[in-house]
Amino acid sequence: MYDFIVVGGGIAGLELGAMLSHDGHRIMLFEQSERVGGRSFVHSKDGFILDNGIHLVRFGRKSAVARVLRHVGKPIEFVSPGTAYLVDKDDRFILFPTGPAGFLKSKLFTFSERLKALKVMVKLRAGGYRGLDRYTVEDWMQGEGIEGGLKRYFRLVSASMLVCSMTSIASARAFVENVDAVLKTGVSVEYPLHGWQNDIIGPLVDTIKQNGEITTGTRVDEVVIEGGKATGVRTKSGTIRANNVIVDVPSQEIGHLLDVGALKSERLRSALGLVPTSGIAVDYAVQGSVSGIDGLIYFEDPISFGCVVSNIAPSMAPAGKSLLTWFCPIHNEEMKQKDKVIGYQQRLESRLERVFPALKGDTLFKRVLYMDTVDGVELNINQLQEKRLGYVIDGIDNLYLVGDTTAAAGAGGDIAHESSIGCYEKITGGTV
Ligand SMILES: Cc1cc2nc3c(=O)[nH]c(=O)nc-3n(C[C@H](O)[C@H](O)[C@H](O)COP(=O)(O)OP(=O)(O)OC[C@H]3O[C@@H](n4cnc5c(N)ncnc54)[C@H](O)[C@@H]3O)c2cc1C
Repeated sequence: MYDFIVVGGGIAGLELGAMLSHDGHRIMLFEQSERVGGRSFVHSKDGFILDNGIHLVRFGRKSAVARVLRHVGKPIEFVSPGTAYLVDKDDRFILFPTGPAGFLKSKLFTFSERLKALKVMVKLRAGGYRGLDRYTVEDWMQGEGIEGGLKRYFRLVSASMLVCSMTSIASARAFVENVDAVLKTGVSVEYPLHGWQNDIIGPLVDTIKQNGEITTGTRVDEVVIEGGKATGVRTKSGTIRANNVIVDVPSQEIGHLLDVGALKSERLRSALGLVPTSGIAVDYAVQGSVSGIDGLIYFEDPISFGCVVSNIAPSMAPAGKSLLTWFCPIHNEEMKQKDKVIGYQQRLESRLERVFPALKGDTLFKRVLYMDTVDGVELNINQLQEKRLGYVIDGIDNLYLVGDTTAAAGAGGDIAHESSIGCYEKITGGTV
């Protein structure tokens, strides 16, 4: 008999499991694949450490994951990426602001666009952009008269922050909330000094093992509900009992675990149809140097962004070698069309190899990932925080939900991290 069974060893399940184990609860975590980490898992090859596509931590040292790790006594150190750039049509690098000062220097903007940018930021910080629930980023820019370089800038910020290349789909409210959080914390993104495995996943696994077990290669087939209460889970080996069950499985897949029809919850039914974000991630492992830039780099064609991750965290590549990682968001509908996806990939790779000539001759190996689910939810106007499932399902006691499809704040992985804290506070009544 366990205190908590956690279904799924993604980052949210690991974080929540670690916090509960740290409090002395007996945990059993089941992960269907052979390794934990879920969509944040880490792969090693020939001395290169490859994240599952670019994996920067939103708000870095001020992030929810940093709070979780501090809470379990395993604080993490982050490194800040350096100056960011946009590579213009003619392959010239233009400074891409990551804070207010950058707007004054960047050649991306005219004088009046600079003034406009400052006005927008002041209005945003003063809470002047409320009531944007039904607006897309495109509507918002139009309403604000945002044009030219500033429009190009916000389009790329929206693409990277909300992982949605289409401003006609991305939610203006989610956009301004996330920009506001960056302005408030003063941190855009950072990277774990020794990588995700050493600094995040490894310490969480160790913490869970202090009072619990992790069983990989075991799929949970069903959450057992008896008398309106979660009492355990069923796997191929039988029923395992627990006082509480936590599900860290994207909402779209929850129908495999629960009899959704019987629960008669409209919100639960609509959660099965949430649209995720999608895209292609490309990694190049390179002999020698690719570029001296240690910040994020953006392309507008195709809309994409990446970095030489080994320039930010040198231990991600062997000495004298480099690792470049790039991500191209593609709408989930387009992702289903193979020829379109290949088209994006070809455009991306030829642009990358033109901008960074070292990729042509010096590549040791290349990896391409086609990801139907990047973030669990696309932040469009129909999938905002309050429209998603909370940490509990009405009518079932002792069953909790975490992960990046729940109603936690933020975007992408940050939703997963925030959800682990929100769910922990709901379960324990404590604070992180
Ligand atoms: C290419 C790419 C780039 C990304 N970049 C960033 C980034 O830069 N910054 C950022 O913040 N976020 C990023 N993300 C998003 C981030 O990785 C996810 O938001 C986060 O990992 C989601 O974690 P989770 O725990 O909610 O879900 P998941 O990672 O999906 O975990 C769910 C786990 O449950 C397991 N599981 C499912 N069903 C069962 C079952 N029946 N029994 C047992 N186990 C089961 C799965 O195998 C999986 O391990 C990126 C994602 C991708 C794919």
